[in-house]
Amino acid sequence: MAEDYYRVLGVARTASQDEIKKAYRKLARKHHPDVNQGNKAAEEKFKQLSAAFEVLSDPKKRALYDEFGEDAAKMGFDPKKADAYRAYRDQASRPSGGPGGGFGSEGGFDFGDIFGDIFNRAGDSGPFRARAEGPTRGEDLHSRVRVSLREAVTGTERTLAIDRPEECKKCHGTGHVGKPKACPTCGGTGRLKQGRGPLSLSTPCPNCGGTGKVAPVCDVCGGEGVVENTVRVTVKIPPGVQNGSQVRLPGQGAAGTLGGPPGDLYLETEVEPHPLVRRDGDDLTMELPVTIPEAMSGAEVRVPTFSGDVTVSVPAGSQAGRKLRLKGQGVPALKGNGRGDLYLELKVLVPERPSAEAKAAAEALRPAYRGDVRSALRL
Ligand SMILES: [Zn+2]
Ligand SMILES: [Zn+2]
Repeated sequence: MAEDYYRVLGVARTASQDEIKKAYRKLARKHHPDVNQGNKAAEEKFKQLSAAFEVLSDPKKRALYDEFGEDAAKMGFDPKKADAYRAYRDQASRPSGGPGGGFGSEGGFDFGDIFGDIFNRAGDSGPFRARAEGPTRGEDLHSRVRVSLREAVTGTERTLAIDRPEECKKCHGTGHVGKPKACPTCGGTGRLKQGRGPLSLSTPCPNCGGTGKVAPVCDVCGGEGVVENTVRVTVKIPPGVQNGSQVRLPGQGAAGTLGGPPGDLYLETEVEPHPLVRRDGDDLTMELPVTIPEAMSGAEVRVPTFSGDVTVSVPAGSQAGRKLRLKGQGVPALKGNGRGDLYLELKVLVPERPSAEAKAAAEALRPAYRGDVRSALRL
């Protein structure tokens, strides 16, 4: 955090222009580098004094500083940016103003992002552009992908169309094209004056990095060095994903600026429900229809699974609802080894249109039940 400018000059927030001037002169004389040769602390103090005086001696800058504090400096004391910032803040502080609903010290807001969004993309050549700050990593991108339950079990591959900021081909990400010209911010000197009058210091110009020259802004990307493209990305979805699983694709996010690395692409998977198979964690359950003779006498039946057909033994005397476990035929664990199980829940079917013989056979079963089958039903 920078020191409060009023405190740097040792004046009240209500101080007049005259008081500010007097305070500055007195302190500047005391801490001037010429009378403090080699004194780093004095030099630092003098820089702070100059910065504070530069702002507080200018009524327009002072008003912005009073309203926005340090952030006014990030705006370069530009009234247009202040308007944009004010509009953003007012919108954000309305009850329906999105996540957080507030602004500033309540937390949840990243000032860097706000300035990045409003100011860096405005095509402005002010000193606080991203490209003036050096290499920046590209943003992470987020997307969703829907897969079937079968694909979630076996894994799959998808080719997706992703809107992604990519390095501008025309300027190769530099934001500039053509021959360098004199920097408009410093007038080609490479230095910016800090403070006023005979005691002024200068600092390297942030727009041109002190070189005094900048090339014209690229017309394709507006100086951003990146342009939005729709790209096709082929993604391997590993076996075992669930609703809300994140698949990370390193380096497939937005391009970085000024040689910064790209961000990552995160895909959130959504697994479609299956009409026949229920999923519970890594276990699967499916109904297995069997006939009365199969349930009574036992049988070997063919059963489809996501990894091919298997033969399953239905034990003799199986009641409806009995669960047969096929170990390891469930969903593979997304992390680590192992697989869930597949449960087959027996569903005993009676014939839909039984013949007279079938009915007679059913009659023959009556004496096979000993006693009352509902004798245990006591509520
Ligand atoms: Zn410059
Ligand atoms: Zn460009």
